[in-house]
Amino acid sequence: MADLKDLYQQIVLDHNRAPRNFKKIPNASHTAEGTNPLCGDDITLYVTVEGNVIKDVGFQGKGCAISQASASLMTSTVKGKTTEEAESLFRAFHDMVAGGPDAPADDKTLGKLAALAGVKRFPARVKCANLPWHTLHAALTGSDEPASTE
Ligand code: ZN
Repeated sequence: MADLKDLYQQIVLDHNRAPRNFKKIPNASHTAEGTNPLCGDDITLYVTVEGNVIKDVGFQGKGCAISQASASLMTSTVKGKTTEEAESLFRAFHDMVAGGPDAPADDKTLGKLAALAGVKRFPARVKCANLPWHTLHAALTGSDEPASTE
């Protein structure tokens, strides 16, 4: 049985308690909604892209500690990055949490996102952690379909 302390690291608790970038951006160039029906997580993401740089990003919604902390960590990480960098972070993050219990985490690429590495031992939580990233991907690729983890 994996230790819950691995899942709820201090940085995760902190981002859940005081989410960064929890705001609506009225003139966002890209928006998307994401839902994880399995857990009841629900987020709306607002992204302002200029050229190919993510100038601003915010989210609103409700959900469990993992989805909220993941959205908070994600938004603070991708802000100022190019959309290509954001997409490669999405892949690195996905590989870390969804690659199974022994998946190596690319700490150098992931930085503080690696705080969510413990999720990989809790399959039910993987979708919570991935939801903001799927939603970002949907926003950046301009998909009109709401992002869903199902
Ligand atoms: Zn959740």
